[in-house]
Amino acid sequence: MLLKNFFIGLSQNQLLNSLAQKYGFKLGAQSVVAGTNIEEMIESVKELNTYGISCTIDNLGEFVYEKEEATKAKKQILDVIEAIKVNNVDAHISLKPTQLGLDIDYDFCLSNLQEIVAKADSYDIFINFDMEDYGHLQPSFDLIDELSKEHDNIGTVIQAYFFRAEEDIQKYKDYRLRLVKGAYKESEAVAYQDKRVIDSNLVALIEYHLLNGKFTSIATHDHNIINHVKRFVAENNISKEKFEFQMLYGFRKELQHELAKEGYNFCTYVPFGTDWYGYFMRRLAERPQNLNLIAKQVFNK
Ligand code: FAD
Repeated sequence: MLLKNFFIGLSQNQLLNSLAQKYGFKLGAQSVVAGTNIEEMIESVKELNTYGISCTIDNLGEFVYEKEEATKAKKQILDVIEAIKVNNVDAHISLKPTQLGLDIDYDFCLSNLQEIVAKADSYDIFINFDMEDYGHLQPSFDLIDELSKEHDNIGTVIQAYFFRAEEDIQKYKDYRLRLVKGAYKESEAVAYQDKRVIDSNLVALIEYHLLNGKFTSIATHDHNIINHVKRFVAENNISKEKFEFQMLYGFRKELQHELAKEGYNFCTYVPFGTDWYGYFMRRLAERPQNLNLIAKQVFNK
């Protein structure tokens, strides 16, 4: 727990974030980040596609407090949408509202998102709204409600550690949803802290959404939950077309390929870009053993 808090603290450190970008401290991030530009990222996506794995692409970025930076991120995401179309790859977009200006001004963020969602809709590309920390949860749902009035190529994430997750999944039951445990450090006033409780809440949310019939993305590296889902869908005659497993780029690669080979829909979350620091530190916070993966990358040159 101490180590988790340590890495989450580092993930929110803006000075280290800017130093990491400025001096290019690689720290092994390349094993879990698919390149720093669109060309490199598209090559990674093409490779995953050859294994029958689809991708959700995240143009990395957070700590955005300047309009100029948010506008730059919007342009970059529009370019990614164009690249998906031009290269005809099996991929969609994951984005974070704070990268598009949620901490600057709600309406500014909404208008950035409107542009992105409209362009993606015109190409029939799905946009997933990643969910961030509790402070951004309700405003993110508000943005989704607003954008859903005109577009239906939107989905989001329900984080099982929140007390309100059950209520949220009922409200958003008609959406394509990604279900996760939750990655941020949250207070006991709003979130379960006990790992076993979070795990069983995630399972309950997964079962609810699968039985509901809407498309479900089960985003976890936890083989116990994955095996439970495999049994549950078989027992309840739920078609493989109705769900997918998702994992992060660079993690449990063998299991990713195995699930795709077994005929399950599989989608890899592919982060790319120069702003990799916060993402990278949260992965270390989730599982300090990930340091092994990174150490291998640094020393096995
Ligand atoms: P953990 O609880 O980390 O691990 C459970 C068990 O699985 C471990 O004890 C171990 O036995 C095994 N295991 C886990 N990782 C490995 C590994 N690398 N190698 C070998 N065994 C392993 N969080 C958000 O808050 N918002 C989001 O929008 C969001 N989007 C996500 C999208 C995707 C595709 C994924 C995969 C995660 C996302 N997350 C998001 C993060 C998520 O909330 C969890 O923090 C993260 O996935 C860690 O939890 P876990 O379910 O993978 O399993």
